[in-house]
Amino acid sequence: MAEESKEMDELANTGNFIHNYIQQDLGENLSRLNTRFPPEPNGYLHIGHAKSICLNFGLAEYYGGKCNLRFDDTNPTKEDTEYVESIKEDVKWLGFDWGDRLYFASSYFDKFYEIAVKLIKDGKAFVCDLTPEEMKEYRGTLSTPGKNSPYRNRSVEENLDLFTRMKNGEFADGTRTLRAKIDMSSPNINMRDPVIYRIAHASHHRTGDKWCIYPMYDFAHPLEDTIEGITHSICTMEFEDHRPLYNWVVENSGLAAHPRQIEFARLGVTNTVMSKRKLRALVEKGLVDGWDDPRMPTICGLRRRGYTPEAIRAFCEKIGVSKANSRVDSSLLDYCIREDLKPKAKVVMAVLNPLKVIIDNYPEGMTEEFEIDNNPENEALGKRKVKFSREIYIEKEDFMEVPVKKFFRLAPDKEVRLKGTYFVKCVGVDKDENGNITAVHCTYDPETRSGSGFSGRKVKGTLHWVNAADCIEAEARLYDYMMLDNPDDPDGEMIMNPNSLKVSKCLVEPSIKGCEKGEKFQFMRNGYYCVDTKDSRDDALVFNRIVPLKSSFKPAK
Ligand code: ATP
Ligand code: MG
Repeated sequence: MAEESKEMDELANTGNFIHNYIQQDLGENLSRLNTRFPPEPNGYLHIGHAKSICLNFGLAEYYGGKCNLRFDDTNPTKEDTEYVESIKEDVKWLGFDWGDRLYFASSYFDKFYEIAVKLIKDGKAFVCDLTPEEMKEYRGTLSTPGKNSPYRNRSVEENLDLFTRMKNGEFADGTRTLRAKIDMSSPNINMRDPVIYRIAHASHHRTGDKWCIYPMYDFAHPLEDTIEGITHSICTMEFEDHRPLYNWVVENSGLAAHPRQIEFARLGVTNTVMSKRKLRALVEKGLVDGWDDPRMPTICGLRRRGYTPEAIRAFCEKIGVSKANSRVDSSLLDYCIREDLKPKAKVVMAVLNPLKVIIDNYPEGMTEEFEIDNNPENEALGKRKVKFSREIYIEKEDFMEVPVKKFFRLAPDKEVRLKGTYFVKCVGVDKDENGNITAVHCTYDPETRSGSGFSGRKVKGTLHWVNAADCIEAEARLYDYMMLDNPDDPDGEMIMNPNSLKVSKCLVEPSIKGCEKGEKFQFMRNGYYCVDTKDSRDDALVFNRIVPLKSSFKPAK
């Protein structure tokens, strides 16, 4: 194993080393490749799973092979059909198709049982009565060998009788196990007579109360792969030390095929948590708005936030596959969604922090219509009309009464362009009794009408704006990192970012009317937004900010 492992490590540094294995193993018959994505239906999928999905389905697509979707449902107390359905939806949404290859480990329970009986008959498995504490004691440590269980030498007949009675429900949970008989002195603890069946009087979401014994992962998983004719079983690094056991189970099962297990590094992302256990804890403590809270790294959370399957797939492509565990900077995912939406999303004007602008020389009661490109990078998205009149709103931060150096936006006596319309110049401000600015007064120059070919002078700043008379008030949800820190220990405690969600009112141009849930827009000069699928209503729109236009935040180390 040491040799094989070393060879794998070397290959791990040569791009996607998994390709090398597949090519070596299948030679001319690359389309024989059969991978699988094997989620346990005990929670919602996250972006780490997306990496595994893209890898397994992606390899199958690349070589013209197949990828199965298999639910690894061998742990009845934690699993549920709710999760089965959400997982199917998420895999489909990511753009992958398992065709007619949807499988459940629980469909193989009879087969697993049969193979366990074969192992007993072959003298390779025994029923053990040690308590969990005793078993731990007998197991030994990394530096000391284990001790044989006193039940290890039971006769085949006695083992068969006890195992049958375990299956028939005669014994209480935890009183007996079936163990593989391998080697208690193996340097690899996984090989020290591992438990392969346990007693659990629990109802299973698919098999009901038919079984009260359930196979352990290390026994079931290799058999699931072998039964389905999987050629390459791709899993995460923590299973590397389980590979000898995987091979032992396959080789002693009496089944013909022999899948090859290949490990790769789990994906971690900065300032978020990844394991289902921790994500569930956030949901159960009510710290987030369910599994699909837009801050969550779950596929359903990312979807609700507004990330696209294209962006997630591009992200998985860019991070590559290696054997070194690491945390990828979440700004890479932000980059991928910006790249995807840049040519696709309609660019509209919205003001989050409104400041009223009154154009003193613009006739009262007059309204003009201007045509604006829906996306300057993509003509195919066409144009739309926006109305302009005497009172508009701009962003508060686009005005400074005493401008700092290089401030090219609006300031007293300074001129800017209002997107798609005219040049305006600030001629005064209104203040309340506390000295706060309540409105800015401008004059406009009719000569500078957009599209008129005016070339008299230039201005450095172009501001977005909305028309006071017909803009729509909506809610903007601004997200930041979910977690504050990135402990070195992947299981280390993390504290939730108290500023991970800020809710703000916003004023949006009326062309947004009739937008669909899940539709994505660029709010000009601000960021990409998605109409929230859960809380948005036609008369009370809610927009999730997917990402700011430019990355202003620096990820913590
Ligand atoms: P979690 O710890 O989040 O519950 P898991 O590994 O227990 O993850 P499974 O449902 O058993 O989740 O995983 C299905 C597949 O997805 C497995 O092949 C697993 O290796 C892979 N996977 C899970 N998390 C990641 C990750 N962070 N990066 C890459 N692959 C992952
Ligand atoms: Mg798990």
